[in-house]
Amino acid sequence: MPMSNYVQAWKEYKRRRNQYLGTILAYLIIVPILVFLVERHRNEVLFFAIATPLVALLIYTHECFLAFRCPRCGKKYDRRWRFKFNGFAKKCVYCGLPKYSI
Ligand SMILES: [Zn+2]
Repeated sequence: MPMSNYVQAWKEYKRRRNQYLGTILAYLIIVPILVFLVERHRNEVLFFAIATPLVALLIYTHECFLAFRCPRCGKKYDRRWRFKFNGFAKKCVYCGLPKYSI
C-alpha cells in the first residue's frame, strides 16, 4: 500500500476514535443531566426518549471504531473476534503493524 494510503487510513482511524470518545463524553455529560431532570419532573419517558438514541449512537460509534481495518494486512486492526478486542491496541493484532506507522 502506498504511503499516502497509510496516512489516509490513520486519519480515518483517528476520526473514528474521536467520534467514539466524543460520544462517550456526551453520554457522561447528558445522562446525569437527564437523571436530574427525571427526578425533578418525574418524567421517565423523556429520559428514555433521549437516552435510547444516545445508547444506540454509542454502540454504533464503538462498532465503527472497532471495525477499522489495518492498512497493511486489511484485517480488523484490534479485534480478533467479536468479544475479544482491544480498542486501543498499539499494534495490529494480526501483522503487528505499529499504530500510526507509515
Ligand atoms: Zn495488520
